[in-house]
Amino acid sequence: MKNSITVKVLKFGGSSVGSRESITNLKKIVESQQDDVIVVVSALGGITDKLIVTARMAARGDRQYEAETEAMLKRHEQMIHDVIVPERRRKAYNQVRKLFGELKEIMQGLYLLHDLSEKTMDTIVSYGERLSSQIVVQLVDDIKLYDSRQFIKTEHKTTNHSIDSDLTYRLIRETFQSLFNGQEQSGQEGPNRMEAKAYVKALAPGFIASDAQTGEITNLGRGGSDYTASLIAAALDADVLEIWTDVDGFMTADPRVISTAYTIDELSYVEAMELCNFGAKVVYPPTIYPVCQKNIPILIKNTFNPTARGTEIVNELPAGTKAIKGISSIGNTALITMRGLGMVGVIGVNYRIFKTLAENGISVFMVSQASSENSTSIGVRNEDAGPACELLNREFSKEIALGAIFPISAEMDLATVAIVGENMKRNPGIAGKLFGVLGRNGINVIACAQGASETNISFVVEKKSLRKSLNVIHDSFFLSEYQVLNLFICGVGTVGSSLLEQIRGQREKLMQERGLKLNVVGIARGNKAMFSREGICLDNYREQLEKAPASNIQILHDEVIGMNIFNSVFVDCTASADVAGLYQDFLAHNISVVAANKIAASSEYEKYQVLKQTARRRGVKFLFETNVGAGLPVINTINDLINSGDRILKIEAVVSGTLNFIFNNLSASCRLSDTIRLAKEKGYSEPDPRIDLSGKDVLRKLVILARESGYAIEQKDVECSLFIPQELFEGTIDEFWKRLPQLDAEFEERRARVEKEGKRMRFVARLDNGKASIALAEVNKYHPFYNLQGSNNIILLTTERYKEYPMMIQGYGAGAAVTAAGVFADIMSIANI
Ligand code: ADP
Ligand code: ASP
Ligand code: MG
Repeated sequence: MKNSITVKVLKFGGSSVGSRESITNLKKIVESQQDDVIVVVSALGGITDKLIVTARMAARGDRQYEAETEAMLKRHEQMIHDVIVPERRRKAYNQVRKLFGELKEIMQGLYLLHDLSEKTMDTIVSYGERLSSQIVVQLVDDIKLYDSRQFIKTEHKTTNHSIDSDLTYRLIRETFQSLFNGQEQSGQEGPNRMEAKAYVKALAPGFIASDAQTGEITNLGRGGSDYTASLIAAALDADVLEIWTDVDGFMTADPRVISTAYTIDELSYVEAMELCNFGAKVVYPPTIYPVCQKNIPILIKNTFNPTARGTEIVNELPAGTKAIKGISSIGNTALITMRGLGMVGVIGVNYRIFKTLAENGISVFMVSQASSENSTSIGVRNEDAGPACELLNREFSKEIALGAIFPISAEMDLATVAIVGENMKRNPGIAGKLFGVLGRNGINVIACAQGASETNISFVVEKKSLRKSLNVIHDSFFLSEYQVLNLFICGVGTVGSSLLEQIRGQREKLMQERGLKLNVVGIARGNKAMFSREGICLDNYREQLEKAPASNIQILHDEVIGMNIFNSVFVDCTASADVAGLYQDFLAHNISVVAANKIAASSEYEKYQVLKQTARRRGVKFLFETNVGAGLPVINTINDLINSGDRILKIEAVVSGTLNFIFNNLSASCRLSDTIRLAKEKGYSEPDPRIDLSGKDVLRKLVILARESGYAIEQKDVECSLFIPQELFEGTIDEFWKRLPQLDAEFEERRARVEKEGKRMRFVARLDNGKASIALAEVNKYHPFYNLQGSNNIILLTTERYKEYPMMIQGYGAGAAVTAAGVFADIMSIANI
């Protein structure tokens, strides 16, 4: 019938007719069409739900139904008042009030009879679209309204209505034929209209239908207006089916869950079918087939943003499109597993399972069977799980009694995720990457299935892991425009605040050049902590932290783990033993740890080992490069040497920037106590400088270096010779500062002597053949440590390969900025996995 005429079918969903703004857009969109169009409308957004709830209310004798019905009437009247020109309002009011008159009578009947049959419910929900179409017909100029019940015909099959397509197609053609052949064109109004080409506009309510035999009102199922439009498009060989909704198109994932989801420009019918079948609600699944059969493209468009390109769904896509196009999911799923050695090799078990479920209208959306055949898992909706188990236990009662099959039960409250893309076909490594990335993020896959068509991989996880699974997949398959690292920053002292500043400064560049988004999802200090999944604004985090709720170590632990956020890294910029005590649990929950804090790596060897093992097992990182030499690449270098087969024979190092600063600044006029104060003021020393002076800091660093070099040593194994008497370390910090000048005179004497001998003082850490020591040494001018400037560090590594001339690493070894930069580098190395 089409010949040279171009017909478009435009469907507007509930939200597109739900508000004054959207319905006004609808009018503009329809009236500006340069083709003949058939418009299909849904009920006003939310009305179908309201009709169902109100009907149930009436049927259980709750008088509140009257007020609810009245509120629905008011909403329609208000809409008419808001959007329809005065001269057409009367007609709209009359039609709407007439329909509400009928509806009220039906509701009253329910109230009196306390009975609500399926048939009555079908009648009640039909009012939604009948009402909305009465408004739209008065709203849009020159549009003719048709009653879909006259041409969308259903037949009753077991549990739901299905379309009688031959009859429906014939009736659609008969209904619209005369219209498009120009016999029934509606008159044009206004003088200018006479010159313009008269495009035909027809309107039909979506969703509603009638029984092919009895003529009783039926419908196409929830969300079924899309299907109405598709059937009309297919029957009339339309040029395009446009689905107008409230998003810019089919998105890579549900935008309500994944904030970085974005619109997909093109999808194949198969991909669209896979995605919407699995919870991507944007199109009602049966919609695809009729138009696909006729090769009619579907265009998804946004009523609220009509200029956006939208998504085109077509038969074949150009080569080179992405392997994975989208992810969808359904929550509230259950897994029924049939197990038993008696199932192996027995023909007909699966037949009986599916027959039993099908006969009882239970839909199975995923099946997974081990090739040994001794277990079959079936994914069903939560609400179907109980009845399904009962039916299957009955069907297999004999086998269960004989012990060939175990009694059948369901695991409830799971979620099923599907990744979809036609280009997955013969593209190796996708499943490997999928399960690898889930594993690294601590997500356990309970069951999985991939059909040989290779367009969909589905898997079942615990419901609590759903959001994280979707995020992880979205992120790592580059569905997101950038990869995300979610950072918890603990400690906002000199290092922590410098790190946050560096992140703030680098963020934009990393997004643009590396496609990496650093999202700070938590910031904590001793007694305050704040968390935000969406990310904390770093411009004024101090003020935000000030106002944040009180926190403590337990709250920090519970929040970080409880957020269960993907690709997360805990960054410890404190010197706290309590915080270091959290690492083990974090690593065990697949959270990487980057520590500027040295406590964990230098604690008991056993603990250090367990942390490293946990990180390895969980596929996450435990990094602490800044524990020695701040930003200098010391630990990484040792790791690289060892990993490539070298052996560390000796380490000599000046690893205390603070002590080196002190010894380089000592002079006749700048005494020991002055230099210590200066080191504290310049931010070189630990918050408590006694940790540096007691050699404890050097000792920890040496223990870490030794361990990374492959020696299992403890702090107590290190031989320590100190230059400050032990009693100064006892007592409070104030007492320490007070008593410190007592040492000045004696130290000055030593300094003068050393200077005279042409030597310098250096506090040296040494590891020789597994023997560790720290001591104040006096080095002459030929020694590589002699010229070590300022607060610099130096590390000499004698290895099997670097024996005659040791490897030397030298540079700034202290300071908040370089330490923060080292922490930053550790964070970046996690982004590279
Ligand atoms: P309408 O009322 O227009 O029929 P629906 O509510 O049925 O609209 O479908 C549109 C909604 O589908 C969007 O608002 C969005 O929240 C949801 N949705 C779920 N998954 C996706 C996805 N992958 N892409 C786009 N939208 C999705
Ligand atoms: N109004 C119906 C529903 O809410 C049909 C539709 O909107 O597509 O399910
Ligand atoms: Mg819909």
